[in-house]
Amino acid sequence: MEKKEKSQAQKLSDKLISNHRNGGLILSDEKLKKADKFCEGYKEFLDKAKTEREAVIETVAMAQKHGFEEYVQGKKYEQGDKFYFVNRGKAVILTVMGKKPLSEGIRLAAAHIDSPRLDLKQNPLYEDQEIALFKTHYYGGIKKYQWTAIPLSLHGVIIRADGEKITVNIGEDKNDPVFCVTDLLPHLATAQMKRTPAELIKGEELNILVGSRPFKDDDISNKVKLNIMAILNEKYGIVEDDFISAELEAVPQFKASDVGFDRSMVGAYGQDDRVCAYTALEAILKCKAPKHTCMTVLTDKEETGSDGNTGLNSSYLPYFITNLAKTYGLEGYNVISATECLSADVNAAVDPTFPDVTEPRNSSRINYGVVATKFTGSRGKSGTSDASAEFVGRVRRLFDKNGIIWQTGELGKVDMGGGGTVAQYIANLDMDVIDVGVPVLSMHAPFEVTSKIDVYMAYKAFSVFFAD
Ligand code: MN
Ligand code: MN
Repeated sequence: MEKKEKSQAQKLSDKLISNHRNGGLILSDEKLKKADKFCEGYKEFLDKAKTEREAVIETVAMAQKHGFEEYVQGKKYEQGDKFYFVNRGKAVILTVMGKKPLSEGIRLAAAHIDSPRLDLKQNPLYEDQEIALFKTHYYGGIKKYQWTAIPLSLHGVIIRADGEKITVNIGEDKNDPVFCVTDLLPHLATAQMKRTPAELIKGEELNILVGSRPFKDDDISNKVKLNIMAILNEKYGIVEDDFISAELEAVPQFKASDVGFDRSMVGAYGQDDRVCAYTALEAILKCKAPKHTCMTVLTDKEETGSDGNTGLNSSYLPYFITNLAKTYGLEGYNVISATECLSADVNAAVDPTFPDVTEPRNSSRINYGVVATKFTGSRGKSGTSDASAEFVGRVRRLFDKNGIIWQTGELGKVDMGGGGTVAQYIANLDMDVIDVGVPVLSMHAPFEVTSKIDVYMAYKAFSVFFAD
């Protein structure tokens, strides 16, 4: 067919009117294959790193394979040197020294590796109706009803009375048992279904089923509980009081999977924000001889507001940069002020089943690439850093110049709700920062969905930022 000459209006429209398109229409088949292949490694990471502690262990193992060494405070590093610093086993900073002096600032990517889940209480184990259960206190923002009647695995650490640390990971291996929160059968749920959705399952009803067989004895009460403690004592050498000094997290047991007949999407637990953690990690692992010093920080506690000594509202990141700066005779705050940051976190993708909560002109869509979010927050931009037009312009030019498929997106309609990221805490340090990440469907649900194109574009976006 003969190609029709474009009309004057079409030419003008091409020039003047915004035309972001589905990445599936833009990328060559070869690039699409690359995106799919990249996500194979991503899915493996998701299965190995279901908690912040496991994400740190996996990150360090991957970093060591790529020649990163453990950071030595006071050491003067040369350009091209690669090192990692672990904060209390729950956060990690990876650095590649650049050609330019540190006084010209750092290219920083910051993602979080904690995800919503059910934490065990400090006195978790009890028996009721000859059934043993764990009491929980949920972590992060969840719709509680989503966490019933799905298989859960248990991850974390127990510090015994003798000080020994026991690592727990049970439910992931195919020979392991799993756990679950029970829910009421519909036949008897008449009263439950009259509750408001927020109370459909109450916080104190998120009790995890852990056993039902009694210890064979006629005298003692709570025989099922005793039997569970006997099993735990044999396996881990623990007694009940050891739970007090434990951090045990119940997370969805299922593995990461391809979603859709076309396998275009990834479904898994904890993609907020391990999708940005993995892509920012891969970008720094592959970062070679950068101009500026590059850094990826994978942090904890974002889902509970970034407070605590492993969250980005603490001083561990500025302290680390200050220590590094000192070895070159520089003031830490000067390096921090010259630093640029991509706050790598997810955004809410438009959901065709629930379009009313998003404003179509200003919301992210899956397959439209990585999302640059100028501001988050809620109720009149409260609780946000709001990147400057200058810095958005800088990131926009960088992405366009390097063929990154990207879009802008706001977290839902005005006054519909909202949320925050680590960007505000980074901005408060006097850095330029903008949120850049992957659009997600079913965010904070036990099974979240992302598009492989967007995951790959996030990796590309962090890579070009590091190379710039
Ligand atoms: Mn997040
Ligand atoms: Mn989140």
